[in-house]
Amino acid sequence: MWLALCARRLAAALAAAAACLPQVCAAASAEVATVSVDAREASRGILKSHLTLPVSPGALTLVYPKWIQGRHSPAGPITSLAGPVLRAAGAPLAWRRDDVDLYAFHLLVPAGVSVLEADLEVLTAPAPDGIVQGLETPRSASESLAIIEWNQLLLYPEGARTDELTYRASIRLPAGWQLATALTPAAAARAAADGSTDFEPTSLTTLVDSTLLAGRYFRTLELGGTPAVKLAIAADQPAALAISAETLAHYRNLVAEASALFGATHYRHYQFEWALTDQIMPDGVEHHESSDDRSPLRALLDDDIRRAEATLLPHEYTHSWNGKFRRPVGLATPDFQTPMRDELLWVYEGLTEYLGDVLATRSGLLTPAEFRDEMARIAAQLTVHKGRDWRSLEDAVISAPLLYYQDWNWASRLRRQDDFYWEPALLWLEADTLIRRLSKGQRSLDDFCRRFYGGTSTAPEVRPYDFEAVVAALAAVQPYDWRSFWRERLTRLGGGAPLAGIEAGGWRLEFTPAPNSMNGAHETEDREVNLQYSLGFRVSLDGGTLVDIVPGSPADAAGAAPASHLVAVNGHKWSREVLHDALLEASDGGHTLALLIEKDGEYRTLELHYAGGERYPVLARAQGADLLAEIVRPRAAGTGSSAARGTSSHGSHAGER
Ligand SMILES: [Zn+2]
Repeated sequence: MWLALCARRLAAALAAAAACLPQVCAAASAEVATVSVDAREASRGILKSHLTLPVSPGALTLVYPKWIQGRHSPAGPITSLAGPVLRAAGAPLAWRRDDVDLYAFHLLVPAGVSVLEADLEVLTAPAPDGIVQGLETPRSASESLAIIEWNQLLLYPEGARTDELTYRASIRLPAGWQLATALTPAAAARAAADGSTDFEPTSLTTLVDSTLLAGRYFRTLELGGTPAVKLAIAADQPAALAISAETLAHYRNLVAEASALFGATHYRHYQFEWALTDQIMPDGVEHHESSDDRSPLRALLDDDIRRAEATLLPHEYTHSWNGKFRRPVGLATPDFQTPMRDELLWVYEGLTEYLGDVLATRSGLLTPAEFRDEMARIAAQLTVHKGRDWRSLEDAVISAPLLYYQDWNWASRLRRQDDFYWEPALLWLEADTLIRRLSKGQRSLDDFCRRFYGGTSTAPEVRPYDFEAVVAALAAVQPYDWRSFWRERLTRLGGGAPLAGIEAGGWRLEFTPAPNSMNGAHETEDREVNLQYSLGFRVSLDGGTLVDIVPGSPADAAGAAPASHLVAVNGHKWSREVLHDALLEASDGGHTLALLIEKDGEYRTLELHYAGGERYPVLARAQGADLLAEIVRPRAAGTGSSAARGTSSHGSHAGER
C-alpha cells in the first residue's frame, strides 16, 4: 500500500522537479518516518517510542515486525507490546486488530491527514532462571545497560518492502550513558536540549539491522581492519570491562584472521556490541555491520566463562559474510511479515558454528587443545541426542522456529537448536577434511569460503543462494558428488553422531575420567554438573534441578524425570562433591546409587545401576595426519606469535547462536 502511495508522490515530485518548488521539497521530507525511542526507564523494563508515519487519507494497515532476521523465527515480541496509541491531526484514531494476523492493525486515515503519530511501549520483566517460555519476551536491559532492538519499537505499512522505507531514528538514554551502534550519527546534531542522540535517515532494513547498545559503564576498543572494526563493551560493573592485553590481541587477531579467510568484507565499518551482564539471557544476534553479543558479567574475568564465551564474537562476526551477505533464499525476505524458510540453516548456522570455532582458535581465543575439547564436547552431545532416531537434520532446521528457545527438558529425545548448529558443524569439518584429502592438501574449505563469501569488498548487500549454489561452489573448489554428500547427511536417521570428520582429521572420540576443558567451562558458566555420559543427566547447582534425561542411561532406566529436584545421594545431602565421590565409588565395579528425588511435592528414591566412574568426552590421537592442527593454524600475517597461548588442555550452551 505504501509503495503505491510513494510512487504516486514520486511522480508528482518528478513532474515539478525542474522548479524544485518548496512544497515539493517539503513533500519529499515527509516521506521519512521517524522513530524516537525513550530508553530512560529501560532498567524498569519499559521502552517507549513515538512514531511519525507519512500517510495518505484512506484505508491503511500498519504491521508490527514479526519475522526477525537473525532469529529465523516469528520472534517479534507482540505479547509485550502496549499500543499502538494512534493520533491524526491531534485527535485519537481508532484501529482494529486483524482477526487472523495478530501483528496487523487496520485503520482509516481521515481526509487531509498526511502524518500519523503512534506511541508504543515494550514491557519486559526478568524471567525466572532466565529461561523464556513460549511467546514471552526476554528482557534486554539491566540497571546499568540496555540493548535496543528497533524492530520492537516501530510499525510500518503492510505490503511495503523494508528496503524502500526510510526511517530517521533518535534515542534518549539515562543521563551519563554511552552508546554504540552501526547507525550513522546525524551530521547536524540537534541542540540536544532533551539529551537525544539523532541518527541519519536510513532504510527500515538497515535500521532494524543496527541494534544499539547503551550503558553506564562502557568502553570502546579499536580492533584494526579495513574497514575499521570496533569492540564496544557495556557491563553491569566497571570492573568487568577489564579486558587483558592478551585477550584484546586475540580479538584483533580475529579481524585479521577473518580477512585472511574470506579475502573481502561486506560492511562499511563493523561494530561488536558486547553486553556483559548476569541479568540478561546469554545470546548473540548477527547484523551486517554489527553484532549484538550478550555474555555473563565475568566473561573477561573468569577463565572458565571466558573460554565458554570465546566462540561467540567469532561466530557473530562470521555471520556478516555467512548469513547477511550470502543468505539462503528462504531467509532473504522483502519485509518482516513474510514467513522465513529455514531449510538452509545448516549452512547459515552450521558452517558459522564451525568457522566460529576455527577462527577463535586461529586467533588465539582458544588453544588447539581447547578446539579439540570443543569438537569432543559437541560430538558427545550428539551421541546422546536420541531424537536423531526420529528427527533428521533436515527436519531439525525446518523446525527451527519451534526448537529455538526451548529449554533443555527432554532435549535428548526431541532435539533442539544445538542439533542444527553442532551436527552440521561436524559435517562441515568432514567436508573440510574431504577437500584436503581429495586435493592432496592443495585446497580446503578456506577456498570455498573465499569463493562463496569473498569476491570484491562491498557495502552491505544481500546475495541469496539455494542448495544447488552451495553444491556448485563446493564442486568448483573440489570435484565431488556434493549433492549426494549433503542429501544423505541431511535426511539420514539414527546411526550415531557424525564422527567421520573428526576421524578423517586424525582423531577419535573417547570417554575418559579426565575432565574436558570446554565441558568444564560450560559447567561453570551454566552453574551445573554435567553427568550426561555417566549417570545420564545434568543437574543445576541452584536448586538441584535435573535437566534433561539421556535415553538409555542409568537415570532413564531408574525412571527419572526432567525438572525433578535432587535432594540426596546415597543418604548424603547432595552437592557437586557428593555426586563426584559417588561416581568414584562406582568406578570399581557395579554399584547402585540411591538418589533421593523431590518431584511434585513428593519424595522417592531412584536406584541407579552404574558400573563406570567419571566419563567425559575427549579426542584421542588416531591414525593419519593431524588435519585438525592444520585447520586451526593461524593464516594471517602476524597472528601466529600472539595466537600461541600454550597447549594445556584443562579447563553450556554458548556458541549456539
Ligand atoms: Zn548464528
